[in-house]
Amino acid sequence: MKKKDDKSRRKFLRYTFGAGLGTLIGVPLISNSFAQEGKPLSGDKIKLLTTDGKVIEVDKGELKNMASYAHPAIDKEARKGLPNRKFVMVIDLSRCKNARACVESCQYAHQLRPEQEFMKVLKMQDTEKTAPYWMPKPCFHCDNATCVDVCPVYATYKRDDGLVLVDSNRCIGCKYCMVACPYEARVFHWKEPFRKEEFEGMDYSPETSVPVKQGTVGKCDFCPDLARNDQLPHCATACPEGVIYFGDYNEDTVTNGYETHRLSELIEKKSAYRYLPHYGTEPNVYYLPPVDRIYPFEETKNS
Ligand code: SF4
Ligand code: SF4
Ligand code: SF4
Repeated sequence: MKKKDDKSRRKFLRYTFGAGLGTLIGVPLISNSFAQEGKPLSGDKIKLLTTDGKVIEVDKGELKNMASYAHPAIDKEARKGLPNRKFVMVIDLSRCKNARACVESCQYAHQLRPEQEFMKVLKMQDTEKTAPYWMPKPCFHCDNATCVDVCPVYATYKRDDGLVLVDSNRCIGCKYCMVACPYEARVFHWKEPFRKEEFEGMDYSPETSVPVKQGTVGKCDFCPDLARNDQLPHCATACPEGVIYFGDYNEDTVTNGYETHRLSELIEKKSAYRYLPHYGTEPNVYYLPPVDRIYPFEETKNS
């Protein structure tokens, strides 16, 4: 894939998808804080990681609370979902070289500790005679989500736009959903969250999955706060190889920020498949097979 620099990628992130998806994409400058106009500078500098993996230094006075940046939906909206959408992800296994930018940007945005991963990158090998490959694995936002069925307090729920989210204000930490998920997509918050102080005082939103509440369960949320703001999920923006496409099933369109495709064409032409479909969970993540790999398989320190 021919890469563009960050600036041009940002510019490329707005597409015309036809009727509605049109405005799905853009890149936030800073993952969890945001420049606030008119606020005086404090002289104190703070380092931040941008969603495309750069460390930048800004004055504390230029920050505002992420809650106001993300516009987390009120409870009712967070339960309902975005109208006329059905979110979908496509992951191109021929491009992944375990750069782990997806994992790290997701961890940062979701207050995860280093050992916690909403996105996992698995080393796969289908048979002894075939080459190994890397497989990024988020939550699949299944249409028949077993995790939703077992939650006794309706903390986990499926929205009209296909997203399966967790309301940690309701979660009692029983872990039924962890047992019920056949893909091990869920993570228990055993310990204090990463960067706890930065998120203190914020209202929890199932659309951001922060602030993390110790003793509850979390998982990949498909970053609906970003979708509301016409942006790609953190993992998709951070990936330097354009492995992760995100889009709308109803509009038959997905993009990785570099390229935009018809979902149906990708599925047909590249023989896309879903992971372990015989479970009957109807995942909303499609994989493009690891054929004609761009990079030879390499073990890494994270293997
Ligand atoms: S992958 Fe697991 S956690 Fe995610 S929706 Fe499906 S069953 Fe639930
Ligand atoms: S751990 Fe929380 S989200 Fe999972 S089933 Fe129990 S109450 Fe529901
Ligand atoms: S979609 Fe969002 S929550 Fe899911 S893996 Fe990507 S960054 Fe993490």
